[in-house]
Amino acid sequence: MARDPKHDVLFQPIKIGPKTLRNRFYQVPHCIGAGSDRPGFQAAHRSIKAEGGWAGINTEYCSIHPESDDTHRLSARIWDEGDVRNLRAMTDYIHKYNSLAGVELWYGGSHAPCMESRATPRGPSQYASEFETLTYCKEMDFDDIAMVQQYYVDAALRSRDAGFDIVYVYGAHSYLPLQFLSPYYNKRKDKYGGSLENRARFWLETLEQVRRAVGHDCAIATRFAVDTLYGDAGVEVENDGIKFVGLADSLVDLWDVDVGDIAEWGEDAGPSRFYQQGHQVPWTRFIKQVSKKPVLGVGRFTDPEKMTEIVTKGIADIIGAARPSISDPWLPKKIEEGRYDDIRVCIGCNVCISRWEIGGPPMICTQNATAGEEYRRGWHPEKFPKKTSDDSILVVGAGPSGSECARVLMERGYTVHLYDTAAKIGGHLNQVTTLPGLGEWSYHRDYRELQIAKLVKKNKQSQVMLGQKPMTADDALAYGAEKIVIATGSSWNSDGTNCLSHDPLPGADASRADQLTPEQVMDGKKPIGKRVMILNADTYFMAPSLAEKLAMAGHEVTLVTGVHLANYMHFTLEYPNMMRRLHELHIKEIHNAFASSIEPGRAQIYDVFGDGSKRIFKGVGKIPRTPNASHRWMEFDSLVLVTGRHSNDSLHRELKARNGEWHKNGVRDVYLIGDAEAPRLIADATFTGQRLAREIEESKAQFPLPYRREVAVWGTSHMPGAEFDLEYKI
Ligand code: ADP
Ligand code: SF4
Repeated sequence: MARDPKHDVLFQPIKIGPKTLRNRFYQVPHCIGAGSDRPGFQAAHRSIKAEGGWAGINTEYCSIHPESDDTHRLSARIWDEGDVRNLRAMTDYIHKYNSLAGVELWYGGSHAPCMESRATPRGPSQYASEFETLTYCKEMDFDDIAMVQQYYVDAALRSRDAGFDIVYVYGAHSYLPLQFLSPYYNKRKDKYGGSLENRARFWLETLEQVRRAVGHDCAIATRFAVDTLYGDAGVEVENDGIKFVGLADSLVDLWDVDVGDIAEWGEDAGPSRFYQQGHQVPWTRFIKQVSKKPVLGVGRFTDPEKMTEIVTKGIADIIGAARPSISDPWLPKKIEEGRYDDIRVCIGCNVCISRWEIGGPPMICTQNATAGEEYRRGWHPEKFPKKTSDDSILVVGAGPSGSECARVLMERGYTVHLYDTAAKIGGHLNQVTTLPGLGEWSYHRDYRELQIAKLVKKNKQSQVMLGQKPMTADDALAYGAEKIVIATGSSWNSDGTNCLSHDPLPGADASRADQLTPEQVMDGKKPIGKRVMILNADTYFMAPSLAEKLAMAGHEVTLVTGVHLANYMHFTLEYPNMMRRLHELHIKEIHNAFASSIEPGRAQIYDVFGDGSKRIFKGVGKIPRTPNASHRWMEFDSLVLVTGRHSNDSLHRELKARNGEWHKNGVRDVYLIGDAEAPRLIADATFTGQRLAREIEESKAQFPLPYRREVAVWGTSHMPGAEFDLEYKI
């Protein structure tokens, strides 16, 4: 199918200072856990996007000096010649595809805790970070200001030497330039504080100095949160926002604009649970009205229609994207070639971000299982190694893991039969996506459903068999496949087994009329009473999502939680608005409490920390603390057990137990993937499917091959040297 001519506008080159972007697709800076320390990862992840058509590709935030050290999280750094050399791998590989490489020069002030460097961060005024724990900055005097500005200049020069085409002065997400601009941080009374002109001075001077240093060779970009969303306590777009753009416009070749701050940066990287594509436009649309320079904005743009509208309506000149470029590194190429239904649409789950928030292990992606695996496992998102045998493969279970495994096996040319009792591909996602705000997560299923349908058309021997009777071990052995992949998923515990006691909960039993598992709530078949108690021992979204769903349906909901409610949602940036949602729906929360037993219509609740604080040796069989006396009964009409999950692995166990029958049935191996192996994130279940499909010829394919590590080895050269090259298993 040819590209719709309407979308041609997205492929028009645009000049930014001394450089030209070959089209309007631009990967804004985003974290991946590579930084400068894993040059192979950095080079491979970014350059695959250049190959996929992104015209501009950036590092993550890149520290200019040890005073801006974000350990325990992982940023890029351009502190010395070693960093220059490592980042050069990224720029060299990006340039092979005629794309431009950008670096986001970053100084964090007190939002950088400096746990590795032990340096003291400096800021416009002294304040305690609202994002970091226990971090204050030193208020800069004029000498400090000159020194820090020189850090930017030195880092810009090193960036140019590393081959970067675009050099940023990064002021979004409440980092240093914005701290000077915003009265929320800047309490100064001198020429750097007070009036807008004074608060803007630091940023303007820094831009001027960086421009003087590298402006002939590099485009100068600045990233600006045009509205910090606190009203006049911070920066408001119609006030300081557009005025600052007016003041800085002559110093900037490219405006990269967004909204929000760092403490709640989910307002920028908006999860689909709360924000749809283009959600920042009501704020960022003002910038083009003031600026004469190219402007780019973000907002999880994945739809070419929407992107075209952004450009043709003059809202922005360039489409900025972080998550859409992770989910589909080949998004521009697919639009260019009119392959619209091959786009792997970002579902907005923010699991990619969760890894940075946790502290910088390699990024993962729910949709794109190859993200973060490009260098270390040699995985290319769009190219697959050809099959090496004529084995046919039966995949039982068409959830995230089974459907991904089947898709990749089919891409490799294998004959695959994908089998499920359900009428639709998608597994547990078919229920999860009915929860409030999670509709866009269906793109995960839709992508696989469509790709598998196309692949089945290509290889008529492959089949998708839905709505079948449950596969038994007898059926699987007699099926006629050489290899059997079990992807039968997991279920929520119906007996209250939980991570606190590791045992069933006395009296918990979801076969009773007044108790339900999450699946039973979601399938809507069992009547639910007015007063609902949700008993929670899970740290992700299920309990708050069910609470939201039930409260919206008119139930009085009480959440009793023995673990930090929705803790993982801090990492996906969903936490603040999820909590606001629970409050506006009047959901009662009882924290640090769990049940010790259940009876019809009531649960015995205790405080998790209700036992004595002093540990005393009392001998065998005695708990070494004063016994917990906080137990009390609480009534409910219905109890929902969000206490834990277990793998549905009985089919696999039986097949393993009958391995003596494999040979005579022509079965060579049986594998277990996804939640059926261990319950986990959808991203990780998807990964196990892709991983097995790529390694299925290995003699012990159940277990992953080792991956290439980028580590310093004592007594050897630190990194691969002249022989360095990116190699994909294709
Ligand atoms: P995962 O996240 O690991 O992919 P899911 O729970 O989402 O797992 O999906 C598992 C799928 O396996 C579901 O669609 C379910 O219907 C299917 N399934 C489970 N047991 C069997 C079986 N014995 N025969 C056929 N399909 C099964
Ligand atoms: Fe999008 Fe989720 Fe992938 Fe992040 S992890 S890029 S939000 S699909």
